[in-house]
Amino acid sequence: MSFSSDVKQELIEVTGKSRHCQLAELGAIVHFAKESHKSLDHFDITVENEYASQKYFTLLKKTFNIDSVNDSVYEALKIDIPSAKAGTVGTVTDARLLIKDCCRRAWLRGAFLCVGTISDPSKGYHLEFTCRDEAQAGQLVGVLTGFGIDAHSLNRKGIPGVYIKEGESIVDLLGIMGAHISLMNLENARILREISNDINRKVNCETANIAKTVGAAERQREDIEYIRDNYGLDKLPEKLRQMAEIRLNNPEATLAELGELLVPPVGKSGVNHRLRSLSEMADSLRGSI
Ligand SMILES: [Zn+2]
Repeated sequence: MSFSSDVKQELIEVTGKSRHCQLAELGAIVHFAKESHKSLDHFDITVENEYASQKYFTLLKKTFNIDSVNDSVYEALKIDIPSAKAGTVGTVTDARLLIKDCCRRAWLRGAFLCVGTISDPSKGYHLEFTCRDEAQAGQLVGVLTGFGIDAHSLNRKGIPGVYIKEGESIVDLLGIMGAHISLMNLENARILREISNDINRKVNCETANIAKTVGAAERQREDIEYIRDNYGLDKLPEKLRQMAEIRLNNPEATLAELGELLVPPVGKSGVNHRLRSLSEMADSLRGSI
């Protein structure tokens, strides 16, 4: 199952206790349904997926005490939803359903069940709603930003929508909709991803450092060999002669390791200083020949 399906599966079970919240969620399903038709004696909707339709019937049962799909469903919806509580079935939800904070949460849940998708958190963060028109996308952005969520409208080949890319905002929205298990799973995936990014960064950094060390050691060896062949290590002052020989005999040793091999031992900066003197010496020898 995809992460989207997991979230929807969880959201089927989450329903507001108050009738106002239930109506708001029902209103979202009606408004975000793929198609809805209302005539004088008939009302029906086509939803995108099984999760939304399952929730639709749960909410119909809770709000209007309707058990099965038959003409009485349409009759009840015709009477109650459009006129009394839910406003007319247009592209945007009647603002009366979205007055309370609790109802806006329920409405977002209904919208996500109908037209929301979320990418697998191990692959990145992206949550998207597909909308019917700009008005619907605008209303969605308005409600989302009201909760402090960084939401943007988009137009994918003529189809309007709303997307959220920021991990923090996606986590917030899951919490707002009541998908607490999915939220935890997403946070866990996020932590794992950060740890593995961190490890990769460290490995890359260490590889770069090793390459740098090897490069520097290689140059030091070349300089020392140049001095040996064109001047003679015996003629060097004692400290430099010892340094040169230890470097040649220990081509892979780090500065700290070289320092410990010197008699008496010398710290990293002392080793660095002596090696630099040797390199400068090699350069001036090269220049004079
Ligand atoms: Zn409410």
